[in-house]
Amino acid sequence: MKKFFIIANWKLNGSKKMIANFFKHLKFHSSTYLKKNTIIIAPPTIYLERVYKNINNMNIMLGAQNIDINLQGAFTGENSVLMLQDIGVKYVIVGHSERRLLHYETDDIIAKKFHLIKKFNLIPILCIGETEIDKKNGQTQTIIKKQLNSIFKKLGKSAFKNTIIAYEPIWAIGTGLSANPEDVQCIHKFIKSYIEKYDLINAEDITVQYGGSINHCNAKKFIEQPDINGFLIGNSSLSSEEFLKIIRIAHDIT
Ligand code: PEP
Repeated sequence: MKKFFIIANWKLNGSKKMIANFFKHLKFHSSTYLKKNTIIIAPPTIYLERVYKNINNMNIMLGAQNIDINLQGAFTGENSVLMLQDIGVKYVIVGHSERRLLHYETDDIIAKKFHLIKKFNLIPILCIGETEIDKKNGQTQTIIKKQLNSIFKKLGKSAFKNTIIAYEPIWAIGTGLSANPEDVQCIHKFIKSYIEKYDLINAEDITVQYGGSINHCNAKKFIEQPDINGFLIGNSSLSSEEFLKIIRIAHDIT
């Protein structure tokens, strides 16, 4: 039996009304399905406390989508890991491709953020993955190694203890074109063996999620793969009905 991690990344979506309806539905239908696996919701920062109040006694954890590389000071518009910790956040997404591409976050910045998240005892969810062109050029493993190496360079041999990795091929994010589950299984196996080579952690203790157009129709085949340990879900996590369907499928298989 494997433990599965399902993370909702709401990105720049949500409202007070959406949150009220989402949790009303979840509370009514979900109590048995939330117990087995770890469910995390990462809303926009402005709604973190509202979501926190809603998940009380629900077996759902609070996640954040980003942190600043600074802890405090004159950094207008930013949020620090200390502030997130202060309000009950347990998990932080770092290195999402939208931050890499749209906010110009380099591997170095991502490694600094990853380090801060670990330093303050939160759990980083590190997103890695290749573009469509990388895939066509047969560069998937090279890109993944580069992204992992920058974390090793900053944190050394225990870099990946108590962390989650989300393999997210960029071409599959938000496109409706999920990757092939067997291909993802091979890449997850590669990620685990590469980390095991340089880290003190054992492959079976490494959590690697898949992200990219997951929905209730395609979830089953991914969950059945031995090295897929969870999902990072964008679009399908915005509807409580769809999100709950995926949670139920994972509950029945794992
Ligand atoms: C994501 O943004 O991490 C993601 C996987 O999005 P989607 O599920 O919409 O493809």
